[in-house]
Amino acid sequence: ANVMSKENIEAVLKEAYSKFKDVKEGKNADYIKELANVDPNIFGIALVTTDGKVYTIGDYNSMVSIQSISKAFVMAQIIEEDGHQAIQDKIGVDATGMRFNSIVAVEEHKGQEINPLVNPGAIAATSMVKGNDSVAKWESILAKQSEFAGRTLSLNKPVYISEASDNLRNQAIAHLLFSYGRLYFDPIQSTDIYTKQCALNVSAKDLAVMSATLANGGVNPVTKKKVVSPETVMYTLPVMATAGLYDDSGIWFYNSGLPAKSGVGGGIIAVCPGKFGIGVVSPPLDAAGNSLKSQLVIKYVVEKLKANPYLIQ
Ligand code: GLU
Repeated sequence: ANVMSKENIEAVLKEAYSKFKDVKEGKNADYIKELANVDPNIFGIALVTTDGKVYTIGDYNSMVSIQSISKAFVMAQIIEEDGHQAIQDKIGVDATGMRFNSIVAVEEHKGQEINPLVNPGAIAATSMVKGNDSVAKWESILAKQSEFAGRTLSLNKPVYISEASDNLRNQAIAHLLFSYGRLYFDPIQSTDIYTKQCALNVSAKDLAVMSATLANGGVNPVTKKKVVSPETVMYTLPVMATAGLYDDSGIWFYNSGLPAKSGVGGGIIAVCPGKFGIGVVSPPLDAAGNSLKSQLVIKYVVEKLKANPYLIQ
């Protein structure tokens, strides 16, 4: 039987939904105050194939803030604009082995040897986006994230305001990078754009379309629009594989074989190259800061759809 048949994908998503629906472990992020107020019961799953078929179950239209998942797509935007060597030289592509908002990770190598999927490297990537001022840079990021999603995304204002009024740590990281010549725009404005980018509202369905665009070599399989080049995707996925799930990136990759990215809003995307992208939303996080139920769902789906690229039968 073809595991990627419509009937099988629908059955597997349904099984995953009912199997994990009642899991109650995990806790919403609360270091960004507004995230503690998000309904912890939101549970949405979406899978989009590279030929543009959309499969959904549960609260697949419920919105959460994208948070760190945006980092993968800003990384792709920078590679598209400046080439892959620029990221390697001006930010770095190595896992830091430290927490996502680690200041020590910056200090350790004087702002070098970080990557665009942890806060310091992500703020640096945001600072590199083309645009003459912060408005132009923000509009460019918003446009690109929206092309990946196939619709115009909008800002979750309460989340943005909540984090913007309370992000001295990210501002400190930006200033430290700037002092080492490793931030490429004003530190306060770069942090502000980064904070906005993290506050974009997305559903599980949006996340699945975004990840399916990566799975499809940069062409959005739903809108058919070319968002980035295949080479850009080729250089984005390896960093998602090594640094996509915070301190559990190794455990994640060991168990799924798929490049992925999580965010503290409760979303996770995973990319099965050439086949599909999946997006899952469930706000309660585990100790490493990754959505607990989203991980369970994706691991289940990967196993049932035989989607680990390292399974050669
Ligand atoms: N905006 C969040 C922060 O900078 C993103 C964190 C995350 O999702 O990892 O703390």
